[in-house]
Amino acid sequence: MVSRSEYDAVIVGGGPAGSTAAYLLGKFGHRVALLEKQRYPRDKVCGGCLSQKSIRFLDRVFCAPVPALRREGLLDFTGTRYALYIERSRALAGDLAAPFYFTQRDRYDAYLAGRAAEAGAEVHDGAEVAAIDHARRTVTTSDGDRYSARVLIGADGIHSRVRRSLPRCAFDRDRWRNNLGLALELTIPREEAQASANGDGTIRLDDGLTTPHLVFAACRWGYGWVFPNSEAIVVGIGGLLQKNQKGLRDRFGEFLNAIGLSAFADRKPTGFPLPFGNYIPSPAYGEALLVGDAGGFASPILGEGIFYAHRTAELAAHAVHRHLATGAPLGETYAALLRRRLIPELQAEAALRNFLYGCLDARMRIPLQAFMKTTSARVIDAVQGFRSFRGFRRDDDLHTAVW
Ligand SMILES: Cc1cc2nc3c(=O)[nH]c(=O)nc-3n(C[C@H](O)[C@H](O)[C@H](O)COP(=O)(O)OP(=O)(O)OC[C@H]3O[C@@H](n4cnc5c(N)ncnc54)[C@H](O)[C@@H]3O)c2cc1C
Repeated sequence: MVSRSEYDAVIVGGGPAGSTAAYLLGKFGHRVALLEKQRYPRDKVCGGCLSQKSIRFLDRVFCAPVPALRREGLLDFTGTRYALYIERSRALAGDLAAPFYFTQRDRYDAYLAGRAAEAGAEVHDGAEVAAIDHARRTVTTSDGDRYSARVLIGADGIHSRVRRSLPRCAFDRDRWRNNLGLALELTIPREEAQASANGDGTIRLDDGLTTPHLVFAACRWGYGWVFPNSEAIVVGIGGLLQKNQKGLRDRFGEFLNAIGLSAFADRKPTGFPLPFGNYIPSPAYGEALLVGDAGGFASPILGEGIFYAHRTAELAAHAVHRHLATGAPLGETYAALLRRRLIPELQAEAALRNFLYGCLDARMRIPLQAFMKTTSARVIDAVQGFRSFRGFRRDDDLHTAVW
């Protein structure tokens, strides 16, 4: 049992959010402990899709452009084409101006934790935080080790213990529940998928299984996906939990059927909640901040969360740095950065989500098809971070160094 109290910041959770915060605070010269309950390399249920938003972030903040990511073995697959379906009908397909990349989370997250350690953060894996004392700014691990710090960052994912330790008044729990998502995912080895794909599906996957597919309305207020990587394909469906309380497993079976992979219907997919528009606008309490999934930050349309984990951690790290250096109020500074750099984008995307999924749910295909025809290229640009969801204008808010 150890008791350590000399830290500027203790970060709970070593996924993309925690490692980004630890890396930046280490670079700023602060004493940081990153506590991760699992041992690296550890896996995470995830499609592993990196949009250009994430790619640009890795280049800008970690100085890791695509060739460096390739050298590190982090880019497992490059998706240069796409296919988008609405139920069983193909709505759009073609080449992408800029690819989506696919990573394996065990390697990706271990690499980021390594970068945090290189920047000077103490990385403790196998350290599960079991108790949090906000008044003393102390966390205790399940082994009884104690860490105290001036600031606490909760980067411990969707089930966040740090978030659950906050008092009821700290955030709107109804809003959280109403916008929470649920996903089911199955990884199928490429050879097996190729041998068993029966072509009977109403959605015909390409022969090489190299094209990422998105299938809207595979479940209510959600979609299905087929994401390729080098050794497997990742098949999933996910949507708003409150619209899919029952029957998601059946919808997954129907989805496998539709894509010609019914041979895998008896395999048990992994279920996992995910943020789907339930972000907490002001995720701070006292000297504690929430980042990434812990604060509900992900794309409200797609549930893409890796970029938002990185970006909220960047904003939080700058707020912590300013707080420690100048005494600026921590929570207000972080909330102001979020309001300036991220929340307007999430609000605009959530409004579009309500339109898209609302039309699908009400079977209003005509406005949806008209919208798709006229704006699909701009929507893809917005998902990739080349445009803003606010009027699809060119905008750099998501990529600008913070102030
Ligand atoms: C099925 C599915 C598919 C997805 N596909 C994609 C995709 O293709 N692209 C994309 O961008 N996003 C995707 N996402 C979302 C993405 O996985 C998350 O948004 C992202 O991992 C969030 O990063 P994070 O660092 O906030 O949390 P996490 O990656 O969840 O990391 C949290 C870490 O905290 C640790 N932890 C938890 N509790 C404690 C504790 N008490 N003490 C210490 N450590 C703790 C955990 O072990 C974990 O390592 C998907 C999500 C799901 C569920």
